[in-house]
Amino acid sequence: MDFQDKVLVCRDCGKEFLFSAGEQAFYAEKGFQNEPTRCRNCRAARKGGTSTAAPESGASRPLFSAVCSECGKDTQVPFKPTAGKPVYCRDCFQKRGSRTNRRSPAYLD
Ligand SMILES: [Zn+2]
Ligand SMILES: [Zn+2]
Repeated sequence: MDFQDKVLVCRDCGKEFLFSAGEQAFYAEKGFQNEPTRCRNCRAARKGGTSTAAPESGASRPLFSAVCSECGKDTQVPFKPTAGKPVYCRDCFQKRGSRTNRRSPAYLD
């Protein structure tokens, strides 16, 4: 059987990608009925494997569930909460941050 390189459109990113003759032969050999629907990048991304694409900023950071010490809301923090140490949700953290900048010494904990 002769195969010819084909250009397919990725259903995820909409980019064209090559379904090469070699890959088509491989698919035929394996008995796969369907052509690939995603480009290499998107396939790798979906597998969650180590793709060469740079991860979204912060996406690869593990998050830990915590309860905000200020408002009691469930939140997620990018570090492991330590027992006895206060943990703040994003809102309270920002509130505290802006307060910290001009807090008087009387308010130091
Ligand atoms: Zn794609
Ligand atoms: Zn809070």
